[in-house]
Amino acid sequence: MRDDLTLVVKVSRCPQNHPCPAVRVCPVDALHQVGYGAPTVDMDKCIKCGKCVRFCPTRALALE
Ligand code: SF4
Repeated sequence: MRDDLTLVVKVSRCPQNHPCPAVRVCPVDALHQVGYGAPTVDMDKCIKCGKCVRFCPTRALALE
């Protein structure tokens, strides 16, 4: 795990019109979505595995 990285949700890249599929790929349930809004991340849970980053087709999630 890279301590210097944070999972960033690029809200402007997220169409916010569908159930976020990346929520289901997170192995530690760190992503949450209210309605069809952009997902939010619980950094206390996130292990920075990058699965959601690789999964999101619009690249709305980034480890940086
Ligand atoms: S980087 Fe991994 S642990 Fe963190 S929110 Fe994405 S899928 Fe979950």
